[in-house]
Amino acid sequence: MRHPTVPLPRIGMRVIKTAVAVMVSYALFLPFGLTYREELGGVLGQIGPLYACIACIICTQSTLGQTFRQGISRLIGVLVGGILGTATLLLGPALENLWLKTLVLGLVCVAGVWLCLLIKRPTACGMACILPCVILITGVTGVTRYYYAIARMIETVVGLLVALAVNAALPDHRPESQREETDRRMEVRNSTRKLCVIGDPVSHSKSPLIQNAMLRELGLDYLYLCQPVPRGRCGEWLECAKFAGYAGFNATMPHKEELVPLMDELDADARLIGAVNTVCIREGKAWGYNTDGAGFLRALADEGISPSGKRVMVLGAGGAAKAVCLKLAQAGAKVTVCNRTPEKAEAICAHDPEHLHPAGFDSATLSQQARRCDLLVNCTSLGMEGTGSQFADFSFLDGLKPEAAVVDLIYAPAQTELLRQAGQRGHRTVNGFGLLVNQAVLALEHFTDTEIDAEKMKACIARVL
Ligand code: NAP
Repeated sequence: MRHPTVPLPRIGMRVIKTAVAVMVSYALFLPFGLTYREELGGVLGQIGPLYACIACIICTQSTLGQTFRQGISRLIGVLVGGILGTATLLLGPALENLWLKTLVLGLVCVAGVWLCLLIKRPTACGMACILPCVILITGVTGVTRYYYAIARMIETVVGLLVALAVNAALPDHRPESQREETDRRMEVRNSTRKLCVIGDPVSHSKSPLIQNAMLRELGLDYLYLCQPVPRGRCGEWLECAKFAGYAGFNATMPHKEELVPLMDELDADARLIGAVNTVCIREGKAWGYNTDGAGFLRALADEGISPSGKRVMVLGAGGAAKAVCLKLAQAGAKVTVCNRTPEKAEAICAHDPEHLHPAGFDSATLSQQARRCDLLVNCTSLGMEGTGSQFADFSFLDGLKPEAAVVDLIYAPAQTELLRQAGQRGHRTVNGFGLLVNQAVLALEHFTDTEIDAEKMKACIARVL
């Protein structure tokens, strides 16, 4: 008879970091006698290492950037919890009644979670509930209760600082050379949640590679698959996905528009752009998002480029161009949309005639528009790997203002001929990798309802592409 084997957890850098952080935070409180010492009086008398340890454990589960973000979230949670907990103390004698106190605790927890979700800080929720519970349950009375609340906040700050210091001092992960092929395999359990990308065709999609790499890196129990769905059959697929328990899926051409009327809820960008590239299935309902436009603006922001008040020249009027143009217009840019097929540029511009103007794609028009623009964005497939297509000539770049940046949505090759020519003329150039990462990160944030460090994901995606 075979006996089941129990897999032993691997002791990696995260475990070591957590242990070191707990030890450091505990040691920091040695001068205070490790336990609460009421004879010290004031806030000092209420300081103890417990909360610092909790903050450390939470914050050292990830990298430095993520620790910072997680830590800020925890801190917000503690502040929300501290304020709510302290406010409930004002109820005074009413809290002497145990049933009333229980009811107040429940209401305060709901308020704490609600407030944290309202400011989009789901990771803060737990902390927002803990503090009121501790303040109310411990039975500390008088002004000491307020010292107690302040002490908890100080301990969280100590925990966060220790977590940041430990994360900065110890390496992030094992070096690349120590990574084995087995690390890249995914473990599929009964609890593993399913995600996928749909398209027609879809076999070329890099989404499974990218999303699985991010899921592995983040240690999230999801598996991302590639699912061909024929044109016109999104409705049937959606029912299948709901029935099969998918957490969500991404959509590529030609499904982005077809999905719009099938959604139970649409986010503002999906509504604006008229296309859905991310669908989350929550309690049988389909929530449609579009992360292309926001991903593009985030990629620009990462490069320190703000489109507000700028004149932008967009080349192309396909699906990507529509998302880019409408978000640029929303961000306050004046955009000229230059396209080979004029009707497609006109159709995009009709959405916001104040900010969007159509133009042709002939050399004379491109040169004329280039002279006026502060930012040039290529949204055509010209120069993309495998297409064999290329701009007829690059003389229109000669007229660009010296400070104008040139962005190409294409990420393969990393440097297109357009970017090479612009770089030669002294312009700042940005390729489509930032968009690729940011739209994928935004989609994964929707699927998993977690905040994700896009900078860390850039390195992780670059490794697998
Ligand atoms: P699309 O809907 O097929 O649009 C293609 C655009 O390119 C159209 O405006 C088309 O003009 C134009 N075009 C194609 N061949 C041309 C030629 N020979 N001369 C002039 N114009 C030409 O494609 P899309 O989804 O918008 O994608 C456009 C590009 O963005 C692709 O290279 C894609 O890889 C890239 N992209 C990158 C990311 C990323 O994550 N970095 C995301 C999305 C897209 P017509 O309208 O006249 O046909």
